[in-house]
Amino acid sequence: MTSKELQALGIEAENLGTSTGSKWFAKGDIISSSSPTNGKLIAKVQCTTRKEYDKVIEAAEKAELIWRDIPAPKRGEVVRQLGDKLRELKPVLGKLVSYEMGKSYQEGMGEVQEMIDICDFAVGLSRQLYGNTIHSERPGHRMYDQYHPLGIVGIISAFNFPVAVWSWNAALALVCGDVIVWKGSEKTPLCAVACQKILADILKANKLPEGISSIISGGAEVGAWMSEDERIPLISATGSTRMGKIVAATVAKRLGKSLLELGGNNAIIVTPSSDLKMTIIGAVFGAVGTAGQRCTSTRRLIIHDSIYDQVKKALVDAYKQIKIGDPLDSNNHMGPLIDTDAVNMYLSALDKIKAEGGKLLTKGEVLKGKGYESGCYVTPVIAEVENHYEIVQHETFAPILYLIKYSGEVSEAISLQNGVRQGLSSAIMTNNLREAELFLSQNGSDCGIANVNIGTSGAEIGGAFGGEKETGGGRESGSDAWKVYMRRQTNTINYTSNLPLAQGIKFDL
Ligand code: NAD
Repeated sequence: MTSKELQALGIEAENLGTSTGSKWFAKGDIISSSSPTNGKLIAKVQCTTRKEYDKVIEAAEKAELIWRDIPAPKRGEVVRQLGDKLRELKPVLGKLVSYEMGKSYQEGMGEVQEMIDICDFAVGLSRQLYGNTIHSERPGHRMYDQYHPLGIVGIISAFNFPVAVWSWNAALALVCGDVIVWKGSEKTPLCAVACQKILADILKANKLPEGISSIISGGAEVGAWMSEDERIPLISATGSTRMGKIVAATVAKRLGKSLLELGGNNAIIVTPSSDLKMTIIGAVFGAVGTAGQRCTSTRRLIIHDSIYDQVKKALVDAYKQIKIGDPLDSNNHMGPLIDTDAVNMYLSALDKIKAEGGKLLTKGEVLKGKGYESGCYVTPVIAEVENHYEIVQHETFAPILYLIKYSGEVSEAISLQNGVRQGLSSAIMTNNLREAELFLSQNGSDCGIANVNIGTSGAEIGGAFGGEKETGGGRESGSDAWKVYMRRQTNTINYTSNLPLAQGIKFDL
């Protein structure tokens, strides 16, 4: 990525990582952001100090009083402008996502498209923040519920979707009348700087004050300031289950609200009637796309024994064709892992698979030589395992696909699929209506996302996104996910000159 392209996004060699809009400041530690694609330094970002953090929250508190008074459709107009700007910058922002995070350019562009889509969704939503009207049991009374802005929404996000997760939260929170404070991942700090600059310019052009959109930079410590902060009524945290458990406990201690989007351990059930071509495409894309670093990546295939060998052979053949290399080169299917720590986790998972009795069907190794100088490129692995292995029960954020056999009815496969602690995405490949309906029923998948004849990976903006169990229970994006960004109020109005009490209670004085 050239310095001219970076400058188009407002990225310099050295960047300040704290901003309340047009004002930028930071005196904390410096993060050097290097590209996992080639190991080269992209640029530096200076992190937020505790004092600066307080300054950001104070600005957000002031801005909230102004922003919440602007009618929702007018707030939607600002989000519409954000969507338009993102349309213009899609190629270059998509490239930064690809270069800083390591996903393919096409996926980087896809991530920016998700930002555009959520802006469009939010613009429509800004005229649809509906409550219900309720028939009162008392004569001459009217009852309804309505939604008010919450205040400051704190966003903590993960490295693997360095721009989309912010936009899912930002677009909805803004139309709901909240102001936002975002701490992006310390592994992708430049993506956060770029997004903040885009939105800050729009807010300034609309003559809106500082503090409506802010960013802060740093690691877990900065995230902890947010979780502990009583001035932030909602913390939306995306990342590992380990992080989510800490954030949830901290926010709960002060009776704040948290929206948690955590790890997955997603499976596709492959039944005897499945379309094998679709299954192989869905499984391979789900397992190796973003080098297995999506929360919805396919981690397990639960295959009926009558077709197991056939599926296994087709997968091993397909893996031989996967081209690994620079994600900005569209000939490659798979890019690098985010950093060498992730590579070490991948290697340690391979050791654990073998130690527990699993069998690797493809060689797992770190690639060396020309084009692989960053040390972050690995080969994707297929392993035959059993569902109960400790390593299979964990989410390893790497391209490792587990094959698990089932022999009887589809209910056996469903209990294997549900037999993990995470509950994000799930899928069944079948042409049998009974199997499909059972999978989607209350006796079927226990995940937040359950698909038929589609893989586990990826999702559309229109649906609510999130998962159950250790995935955290939060929902973002479409459907009525917006409600978490607002506080609900029930209102009863008496337009008579009597005061009848509810439940027919008499209280004569
Ligand atoms: P991570 O948990 O290491 O970090 C995520 C964010 O949390 C970062 O900004 C980090 O600085 C912050 N953080 C870490 N510890 C914290 C603490 N104690 N208090 C407050 N903040 C803290 O995750 P990661 O490696 O960046 O991302 C990968 C994980 O994210 C995977 O588990 C993946 O499944 C998950 N993820 C989930 C979704 C979803 O929607 N369910 C989406 C994307 C990623």
